[in-house]
Amino acid sequence: MGKPTGFIEYARKSVIDRSPEERINDFNEFHIHLDDRERREQGARCMDCGTPFCQSNYGCPIDNLIPEWNDLVYHGRWEEAFTRLMKTNNFPEYTGRVCPAPCESACVLGINEPPVTIKDNECTIIDRAYESGLMKPRPPRLRTGKRVAIVGSGPAGLAAADQLNQAGHLVTVFERDDRIGGLLMYGIPNMKLDKSLVEKRNGIMAQEGIEFRPAVCVGTDIEAEELVHDYDAVILTVGATKPRDLPAAGRRLRGVHYAMEYLRGNTKALLDASSVNGSHISAQDKHVVVIGGGDTGNDCIGTAVRHGAKSITNFELLARPATTRTAEYPWPVYPRLLKNDYGHEEVIARYGADPREFSILTKEFVGDESGRLRAVKTVRVKWHKPPGDRPQMQEIAGSEETWPADIVLLAMGFLGPEDDLVTQLGLERDERSNIRAPYGSFATSRAKVFAAGDARRGQSLVVWAINEGRGVAREVDRFLMGDTLLP
Ligand SMILES: Cc1cc2nc3c(=O)[nH]c(=O)nc-3n(C[C@H](O)[C@H](O)[C@H](O)COP(=O)(O)OP(=O)(O)OC[C@H]3O[C@@H](n4cnc5c(N)ncnc54)[C@H](O)[C@@H]3O)c2cc1C
Ligand code: SF4
Repeated sequence: MGKPTGFIEYARKSVIDRSPEERINDFNEFHIHLDDRERREQGARCMDCGTPFCQSNYGCPIDNLIPEWNDLVYHGRWEEAFTRLMKTNNFPEYTGRVCPAPCESACVLGINEPPVTIKDNECTIIDRAYESGLMKPRPPRLRTGKRVAIVGSGPAGLAAADQLNQAGHLVTVFERDDRIGGLLMYGIPNMKLDKSLVEKRNGIMAQEGIEFRPAVCVGTDIEAEELVHDYDAVILTVGATKPRDLPAAGRRLRGVHYAMEYLRGNTKALLDASSVNGSHISAQDKHVVVIGGGDTGNDCIGTAVRHGAKSITNFELLARPATTRTAEYPWPVYPRLLKNDYGHEEVIARYGADPREFSILTKEFVGDESGRLRAVKTVRVKWHKPPGDRPQMQEIAGSEETWPADIVLLAMGFLGPEDDLVTQLGLERDERSNIRAPYGSFATSRAKVFAAGDARRGQSLVVWAINEGRGVAREVDRFLMGDTLLP
């Protein structure tokens, strides 16, 4: 612990954001790092409390060595901080930007003071490592001659690839999209995670010896059986990409889209340098309704503001969450609280009101005679929870409303991996339609075939994808070599 009185002397100070009014004019990242002195003071706020819940089961899913690198940040020992960070986290440049930071909800200082800025400290360590040239290719010294195929290049596949490559195996990553990165590339928008950073890291991994094969859909362009035959092990990290639908009347009207069609099209247009309001779905001058909260819904909101939507409304079926911890979420549990995310802030700044409507159920999409969406009909609902039972919903009579809508974006979550590959390989699914592969072994019902990430656990977080990518790499290394030294 660098400074015993740090948590008394210094207040929490998060990264500085560009103002909503300014940042909605572009798709660039909007966080600005603190200066060196301020960042070191934030490191000094860590109490090194003895039982670091931040890196326990309640906190960081990859057990980042948080108090150790907080201390190194305080002392300005950036290279050592970088080395400690990379021991547990393959991609701090991603988690430092997009992780919801369960570590901070479990921070002991957070019991009665604002918690340590763990995520921002992490981001500064890795960004400085890039700037100072510490982050560079580290090709493995020895090769085992074993070949591993990884299908899907999201954070789970990339973490597995990084670990197995470092263990000396020859790794090929197959990705059906034209760019590597999974949802890091085409899900999370550029303002939250700059795609040049993803490209840069992919480039480093390629220099370390990983072979990337974008624009190859396994199961269509290459038979899945061919991979099983040609490689010593196959890892499926194909994500949970099947979107939940809303089968209300009028669903097939023009203008009703899945959120990912909208987000992917926008990022691709940005990267291909085509006009942002060109060939993809544009919200410019449109009434936009986003159905579903969460990260996906918020990213649709932030993108629609930047397109210059006429209005933006966000429906959430569930009740408005509490703003502070309740008995249901005692410290150090990660609480489900009302989150005022960047998109909400931007809508308030641009249109003057919070876009969110809670406890509201979509009943019907209304179109014109040409089959184009024009409005959405809803009804308000009431939630109650009988003791020992699941929460139940009741429609409120007389609360029907009609909202103008030219575009509806469905952001209601995902229902596991798509069918083709799973069927072709004859894999078992679990009761939630994910690939059955117990956590810890990551082995599917098929010999030599492993699964990890959202495809195995359902739609989750980048940090959990990294956890699973590291875990599956460990088990594949053990399968190939009889033993493993991978952490
Ligand atoms: C819009 C959005 C925003 C999000 N924001 C956040 C956030 O802010 N913070 C956070 O922690 N998490 C966020 N998440 C969740 C997070 O992105 C995912 O949990 C994480 O990316 C899962 O990683 P993965 O590697 O398992 O799968 P994915 O990232 O989904 O990658 C799977 C890849 O497999 C490829 N693939 C599928 N089938 C095949 C095939 N047959 N052949 C070849 N390739 C194939 C897909 O094209 C895809 O690229 C967000 C999710 C979405 C949708
Ligand atoms: S990866 Fe997420 S949970 Fe872990 S230290 Fe970083 S911000 Fe916290």
